Amino acid sequence: VSIVMGVTDPDAEPHRRQSMVLVPMDSPGVEVERQPTVFGYQDRGGHPQIRFDDVRVPVANLLGEQGGGFAIAQARLGPGRIHHCMRAIGAAERCLDLMVQRSQARAAFGRPLSEQGVIQEWIADARIRIEQARLLVLKTAWMIDEVGAKAARIEIAAIKVVTPALLTGIADRAIQLFGAAGFTEDFPLARFYSMGRWLQIADGPDEVHRRSVARAELGRLGPGAVPEPFPFD
Ligand SMILES: Cc1cc2nc3c(=O)[nH]c(=O)nc-3n(C[C@H](O)[C@H](O)[C@H](O)COP(=O)(O)OP(=O)(O)OC[C@H]3O[C@@H](n4cnc5c(N)ncnc54)[C@H](O)[C@@H]3O)c2cc1C
Repeated sequence: VSIVMGVTDPDAEPHRRQSMVLVPMDSPGVEVERQPTVFGYQDRGGHPQIRFDDVRVPVANLLGEQGGGFAIAQARLGPGRIHHCMRAIGAAERCLDLMVQRSQARAAFGRPLSEQGVIQEWIADARIRIEQARLLVLKTAWMIDEVGAKAARIEIAAIKVVTPALLTGIADRAIQLFGAAGFTEDFPLARFYSMGRWLQIADGPDEVHRRSVARAELGRLGPGAVPEPFPFD
């Protein structure tokens, strides 16, 4: 079954134009035209391009009310985004485990990689950055519990920028540490890199989330705020 979101009333308020309907994939007129990959990977159920040609479904297949599609999508996005962030933290932890194991198991130029200062720096930075991001994820999750996803939207936007970049960065260092093996499917590093990268776009690109954080910050001190000179004695 697919959930199809489409415009049902082009003249309504922008947030009331869309509706969601359940469409069985074997309905006449539904055609999966192609299955593009994500960075070369077939991700979960895939991200197909689907054609809907005069497809008809019963009115009972409407999800919620007509014009409520945007609200349903928004309700799903807040909790959905933090879920992505939690998975990104877990993937970054896995990359770090692999970095530690590889650095101890592999000797190059006469000593284990773990004894190279530069490798220790990558490992230390990975741990520091994971803990920073984890705390922001925890704060955001706590806020969702305490005040709800809507009131926590700026924290959700912030963590949605932080964790994908964290994962891409750590996966990149881990791939470097693994040498050629890091690019293969023997280890999950290349897939984690891809995940971090597409997460910088899926569920809203970084730029849009930064825009939300910046707008909240710019509104924080009021429109007439001017910097006060520092009072030197
Ligand atoms: C792997 C993957 C899975 C996805 N899964 C889902 C899903 O399950 N459900 C779903 O509904 N969607 C899903 N998406 C779609 C995703 O939400 C959109 O791709 C994303 O919101 C960006 O929209 P767009 O692709 O139309 O790019 P555009 O809107 O064309 O944006 C392209 C670029 O323009 C820039 N840009 C856009 N807006 C602004 C702005 N306001 N300020 C500054 N720069 C801006 C950004 O750099 C952005 O990356 C998925 C995408 C990917 C890659």
